[in-house]
Amino acid sequence: MPFEVFRDVAKPILAGFGITAKRLVQQVTEGKGVTVQYPEERREQFGRTRWRHVLTRYDSGLEKCIGCSLCAGACPAKCIYVEAAENTDEDRKSPGERYAARYEINMLRCIFCGYCQEACPTGAIVLRKDFELANYEREDFVYTKEMLLEPVRSL
Ligand code: SF4
Ligand code: SF4
Repeated sequence: MPFEVFRDVAKPILAGFGITAKRLVQQVTEGKGVTVQYPEERREQFGRTRWRHVLTRYDSGLEKCIGCSLCAGACPAKCIYVEAAENTDEDRKSPGERYAARYEINMLRCIFCGYCQEACPTGAIVLRKDFELANYEREDFVYTKEMLLEPVRSL
């Protein structure tokens, strides 16, 4: 009986303490900590990380999105809504004939698969590294075009 108690109870606990001690020694001797002092410090993210969506622009300031809805068609979670409108010479938003007058993503449904980015013919919608997506109200998770569109870069 005492052997079973040691094997089933004490041994796993000691093994757990062993891992803690090993990490402690590593942290003290090699400065190799596993704890990141978030939000002051952030872990470097992998190059192909896919988090928050951004609607990008050309260097000229024109929107890359042409309102084709291919991203919406490719989205397995059906969380993208696009409403296109015609560009005019007086009011040109994108280089193409059309632009997205309304563009919304319901982030509560998004599974961050990146299919929208893959499907987009102009590279307009991209998933970048901003992972701080928490919010309080359900409505705040529906990202509008205004929230998604990157600001015009000053040259
Ligand atoms: S990442 Fe995937 S689930 Fe999210 S909007 Fe794009 S296609 Fe849809
Ligand atoms: S983001 Fe790309 S795929 Fe989606 S509507 Fe705009 S141009 Fe088309």
